[in-house]
Order: sequence, then C-alpha cells, then structure tokens
Amino acid sequence: MVFSHAVVTGGAGFVGARLCAKLLAQGTRVTAVDNFSTAPPGALDPVIEDPRFRLLDHDVTKPIPVPGPVDAVFHLASPASPRAYLDRPLATLRAGSAGTENALSIATAQHARFVLASTSEVYGDPLEHPQRESYWGNVNPIGPRSVYDEAKRYAEALASATRRSKGTDTAIARIFNTYGPGMRADDGRMVPAFVTQALSGAPLTVEGSGRQTRSLCYLDDTVAGLLALAASGHPGPVNLGNPHELSVREIAEQVLAITGSRSRIVHVAAAEDDPRRRCPDISLARRVLGWTPRVSAGEGLRRTADWFAARRVAV
Ligand code: NAD
Ligand code: UDP
Repeated sequence: MVFSHAVVTGGAGFVGARLCAKLLAQGTRVTAVDNFSTAPPGALDPVIEDPRFRLLDHDVTKPIPVPGPVDAVFHLASPASPRAYLDRPLATLRAGSAGTENALSIATAQHARFVLASTSEVYGDPLEHPQRESYWGNVNPIGPRSVYDEAKRYAEALASATRRSKGTDTAIARIFNTYGPGMRADDGRMVPAFVTQALSGAPLTVEGSGRQTRSLCYLDDTVAGLLALAASGHPGPVNLGNPHELSVREIAEQVLAITGSRSRIVHVAAAEDDPRRRCPDISLARRVLGWTPRVSAGEGLRRTADWFAARRVAV
C-alpha cells in the first residue's frame, strides 16, 4: 500500500529520517515534524532537497499544524536513548503523553492510519522470555527509566482508547534495540558507544556483568517492519525486533573482532533497573505482516562500523 501524504514525527531522528527516505522512495509525500532535541546532525541530508519532502521545526507537545490531506501518521518523536531520556525526564513524559495526543489528533481528523513507535521497554525487566505481545511487563513505575517506559505505556493506552472511542485506525509497534549507520556517536547507546570506542582505541565500557542480553535489529529491518505494519491494517501491538539474542559482553567482543581494534573491555557500574534479558517473540509479525528481519548482527555491525569509520576520516 502506498500512502499519498505521511506525517513522521521525530522525522529528523535516527529511525525517522530513514523512514522518511523509504516513504519518499515508494512515492509518498512526507512532512517530518521534529524539534531537533536529539536528532543526529545531517540525518535528513539524503531527503532535504526532495521537493516532496517538507520539514516542520516544531515541538509535538504543542498542537501540530500540518495541513491535510494526510493518510498516514508515524509517531516517533521522543527522546529514545537512556542518556537522552534520563537527561530530559519531563520532556520525555510530555512527548509520550501530550505529543502522542497531538499526533493522534491529526490521524483522527484526517481519517489517517496511525503508527505508534512503542518499545520493548514496555516489558521492563521481563519475567517472561522471550517476550510475546500478550505479556504485560515488569516496570518500576517510579525509577529513573520510568519516564520513558511509562510514557510509552501511556502512549499505548492513549492509542488504544482513541481507537475504541473515536474509531481512529491505530497501530502499535513495539520496537526492540535498533542500530545502524546514522546514530549519534554520543547518544550513549551500546552500539555507537562500543563502535566509537573500538575505532578510537578507547576501552569498551561494558556496564555491569555484561551477561545481560539484548537482541539487535538493523535499522532497515525495523523501518521495513514499520511500513509493513502501516500497510497491514493490524492494530498491534506487534513486536519488531531480531530474535537473535546476545549478551552485552558478546556484542562488545563482536565489535572488537569486526573493527580489528586492540581496545580492552572494562566493566563499569551497571545502569539502574537495567533489564536483564530482552528478546522478541516475532511470530505475530511473521504471521500478520509477513515480516522478518534480514540483516544479521555480524553484517549490521560491520555496516555500522564502516559508517562510523568513514565519518572519522571525513571529520
Ligand atoms: P532519535 O533520538 O534519533 O529520534 C527521536 C527524534 O524525536 C529526534 O529527532 C528528536 O529530536 C525528536 N523529538 C524528541 N522530542 C520531540 C518533541 N517533543 N517534538 C518534536 N520532536 C521531538 O531516536 P530513534 O532511535 O530514532 O527513536 C525513534 C523512535 O523509536 C522513538 O520514539 C523511540 O522511542 C522509538 N524506539 C527506538 C528504538 C531504537 O532502538 N532505536 C527502540 C524502541 C523504540
Ligand atoms: N551498555 C553498556 N555500555 C555502554 C552503553 C550501554 O554496557 O556504553 C549496556 C546497557 O547497560 C544495557 C545494554 O548495553 O545493558 C543496552 O543499552 P542501550 O543504552 O543501548 O539500550 P537499552 O536497551 O538499555 O535501552
């Protein structure tokens, strides 16, 4: 299904900018809405000259002035990395609450398809493994991470209530750790941290024991999943992630092997309330979207390392 005009909130971000590029490539006119609070510099370079692309420098916690018609709204605007949301606790809660309400208002008024970029963090420190969409989660509601986890849980509740009460065509994507070229070097997330440390010869800072696990999904796979969900008519929630689970220590070792770096691995303090295991069950996405991730961690980490290495030479 090809949309005529899509609004992408958070469209200047790591995932959002790639989503904008893919939408334009499939023939959709795109309006990106972003306040640039955490946007990686240059993320929109590939699309900014496209006459079908429009950029609105705007905070989504205020009503969003996008002229219609609009037939798809992708709501991605939110601080996303732990460093970003721990630095911006109240802005993160507002992006998930008022920001989601404003993005939903466009979809309701325009009878547009709405896709919420939710997160595996709604499962918190999961007691069920791997995580299925039916699992309700294990979240500390007052800890530091709650500003993100609970904002996304509220956003899911808001999308669901709006669907029930106003008939808005909503969908919820629960995105698991997504990485790839285009991430900010300094956003604090594991992959850009390890890759930039390895490339500069600095020690790789593994937090805690390193036995905690994550399942890494390559950017293009996540974006393909978001587009498949938008086209499907399915309400979700649907997990979008790569079920290949690795320990954080293994990921650090893989980055060292791929970059040929002689950096050491050092262990530093664990992050508070850090989820111990995280792995998606993607049976639902396979069944209702026909979606499956294509890029292995080895290949994706190589592409990411190549991108950061080329940038280091360029700067
Ligand atoms: P990102 O920080 O690169 O992108 C988020 C974008 O939202 C940024 O460009 C930022 O400037 C913008 N933004 C933040 N608050 C805003 C506001 N109030 N008004 C307008 N714009 C605002 O992060 P990302 O990794 O691209 O994440 C995109 C979305 O996907 C987020 O909603 C995130 O929660 C979700 N997500 C990402 C991952 C991941 O691993 N990358 C995993 C789960 C969920
Ligand atoms: N992590 C790490 N070193 C870093 C950054 C992160 O060991 O420099 C760990 C972090 O403690 C967590 C995992 O890597 O266990 C993933 O963290 P990230 O910030 O990428 O995302 P999260 O999954 O926590 O949202």
